[in-house]
Amino acid sequence: MTQKTVLVTGGARGIGLGTAMLLESRGYQVAVADLHRGQGATAFFRCDVSREPSVRACVRAVLRRFGRLDALINNAGIADPADPPVEKLSLQAWNRRIGVNLTGVFLMTKHCTAHLRKTRGAIVNIASTRALQSEANTEAYAASKGGVVALTHALAMSLGPRVRVNCISPGWIAKSKLSRKDHAQHPVGRAGRPEDIGELAAFLISDAAGFITGQNFVVDGGMTRKMIYV
Ligand code: NDP
Repeated sequence: MTQKTVLVTGGARGIGLGTAMLLESRGYQVAVADLHRGQGATAFFRCDVSREPSVRACVRAVLRRFGRLDALINNAGIADPADPPVEKLSLQAWNRRIGVNLTGVFLMTKHCTAHLRKTRGAIVNIASTRALQSEANTEAYAASKGGVVALTHALAMSLGPRVRVNCISPGWIAKSKLSRKDHAQHPVGRAGRPEDIGELAAFLISDAAGFITGQNFVVDGGMTRKMIYV
């Protein structure tokens, strides 16, 4: 049997890189689509997920190289949630955020779906706990991720039964060394790591998750269950 192929967007670093490496270690052929090449040993395809010609060319190139597609992980995003106050937020900045974080998921899914149908594949979208709760001045990010959660259940209805579509909403996944206090505030005693998201993504694309579609899974060390009235 040929090796199963997974396309991970934004896989050059962070959560995407961690997920790509974990999937490779589990025997998947991993294609990474990103703006810039990272340090991963995976096959790299340059792509801007917010531009349809770029997405179309990327998906074609992945299929030319590997001949099949079994899963799509829509992870690429403008990850820093901070925006200017809403009165100062430019339409251009709003559109860019929505364009990458939400429209990028739509475009990738649009161009991968025919291939995923053939393999009875699966899609995992990476949203955020910020789809559910907010800090000030994060309107565009929160709206984009809320859109990803809703897009997930809509797609699950449209693409079933051949293609399952689920969503993971990560909490704080550390990119640098954090203080003890940062870790300790989490009910599990630590902030997240890219592998925490990769593990669930690996499960959700596997046959073991065959009865799961249209769902949003919060992976945040319990933070969204913590009562924090001052
Ligand atoms: P990173 O910024 O570390 O990685 C994101 C990757 O996506 C980068 O390689 C980036 O490229 C790439 N990317 C950005 N824009 C595009 C685009 N238009 N086309 C293709 N690739 C693009 O982010 P994280 O790993 O932290 O986040 C990954 C996902 O997880 C994001 O969707 C984020 O919103 C979500 N998330 C992250 C959380 C966290 O705590 N880290 C929490 C909740 C959700 P480049 O570096 O060149 O910009």
